[in-house]
Amino acid sequence: MQAENSSDFRQLYYLQFHFQRHAHPPWSLQVLKQKILHHGSLFDLTEAYGLNSSRTDDSTSQECVICLCNNKETIAKPCKHVSMCSGCAQVVFNSEKKCPVCRQTISEIIPFQVVTV
Ligand SMILES: [Zn+2]
Ligand SMILES: [Zn+2]
Repeated sequence: MQAENSSDFRQLYYLQFHFQRHAHPPWSLQVLKQKILHHGSLFDLTEAYGLNSSRTDDSTSQECVICLCNNKETIAKPCKHVSMCSGCAQVVFNSEKKCPVCRQTISEIIPFQVVTV
């Protein structure tokens, strides 16, 4: 197995905004799409993270389900669950490698940052 060179890591964001134009400022921006390109795979973060869902819904809460203090900042491959911060994801990935949401074996942890406006 080959170690992953950090320079190989590419994370791109495809952002699509809905710009609401009023006669006067402040104008508002609404994030419609957020995608990450990671080693040739495109992840729809809007779908994975549920950005369009209500923020008060428990299932889309932004806290890591393990430590309950850091924000979620990783996507588990292949199930695409967003549930852990990077620290907890590393611990899980180095031990049981099971997604805390669906118990699927995790093949890769993809870090990301949510862009909010
Ligand atoms: Zn955590
Ligand atoms: Zn999962």
